[in-house]
Amino acid sequence: MILLDGKVTSAAVKENIKKETLLLIDAYKRVPHLAAILVGNNGASETYVASKVKNCEEVGFKSSLIRFDVDIAEQILLDKIIELNNDLSVDGILVQLPLPKHISEGKVIETINAAKDVDGFHPINAGKLVQGLPSFVPATPYGVMLMLEHYNIQTKGKHAVVIGRSNIVGRPMSILLSSNLPYGNCTVTICHSHTPNLKEICLQADILIAALGKPGFVKQDMVKDGAVIIDVGITRVVDETAKRGFRIKGDVAFDEVSHKASAITPVPGGVGLMTIAGLLKNTLQAYKSNYEL
Ligand code: NAD
Repeated sequence: MILLDGKVTSAAVKENIKKETLLLIDAYKRVPHLAAILVGNNGASETYVASKVKNCEEVGFKSSLIRFDVDIAEQILLDKIIELNNDLSVDGILVQLPLPKHISEGKVIETINAAKDVDGFHPINAGKLVQGLPSFVPATPYGVMLMLEHYNIQTKGKHAVVIGRSNIVGRPMSILLSSNLPYGNCTVTICHSHTPNLKEICLQADILIAALGKPGFVKQDMVKDGAVIIDVGITRVVDETAKRGFRIKGDVAFDEVSHKASAITPVPGGVGLMTIAGLLKNTLQAYKSNYEL
C-alpha cells in the first residue's frame, strides 16, 4: 500500500513554484500577490487563511490579509473586492468561505474578476472547466490531480467514483477525472445524498474520492481490493484528550480501509496540504497571465 503523502507532495510542488517565482520576479520585477479576505473569526477559517498566507510567503509571493467583522455590510465587502479587482498589483483574490448568512456567497464570488479568481469558484471558470478550456480549477480537486500526477497513479479507463457533488470539491473533481487530461480519462460516477445503493457503486470503484464531510463514512466493506482511495473530508471531531479539544477526521475509516487499498491519502497530512499547493499554482498562473505566459 502506498501512502499518498500530502506533506511530501506539496513540498515538491511548492519547491517548483518557488524556483519559477524567483525567475519570474527577476524577469518582470514584480512579486506575485494574493489578497485574502476573511470575514469574522471562525476558528477553522482563521486556520485555513493563516496557512494560505504562510505558504505564500514560503514560495516568495506577497500576501495581504484583509479582515472584516462578522456583521460587515455586504456592500462594503463587494466594494473591497471591486477595489482589489482594479488594483494592478493584486494577481489573485480569495474570499474565505463560509460567509455569514446575511452575505450572498454567490454575489461575492461573481464580483471577483474571473481573471483573479484563484479559488476557481466563479461561474466563468466553472464553465470553462466543463468545456476543457484553460481556467482556474478549484484548489482542492486541483490538489488531488497534482497528487495523482506526483505518484503517477494510472487513471485512464479506470472507474472513478466521487462521493459528493459540491461546486468546490465533488463536481469539479468529477469533471477533471472524466476530462481528456494526463491524469483524467476515467469513467466517472458521481454520488450524493440521494444516491441509493451507494455501497454497491463504491465497490466498483478503481479510484474512490470521498468528499461528503461525514467522518469515517467509507468502511472496508465499501471498498474493492486494490482501489486508490482519496479522502477529501475534513471534520473537527470533539476530543477532550486532544490538545486543541478536537481532532481532524477524514471521510474514510483509514485503519480498516488502508488494508484493502493500493494507495490512500491520510487525514490530516493528505489532500488538505495539496489544496494549498493548488491555490499557489493558480496564483502563479494569474500572475503569469498578465505577461501572456
Ligand atoms: P458539502 O457539504 O458542500 O457537500 C457534501 C456533499 O456530500 C453533498 O453533495 C452531498 O450530497 C454529499 N453527501 C452528504 N451525505 C452523503 C451521503 N450520506 N451519501 C452520499 N453523499 C452524501 O461539502 P464540501 O464543501 O464539498 O466538503 C466535503 C468535505 O470535504 C468536508 O469534510 C470538507 O470539510 C472537506 N473539504 C476539504 C478540503 C481540503 O482541503 N481537504 C477542501 C474543501 C472541503
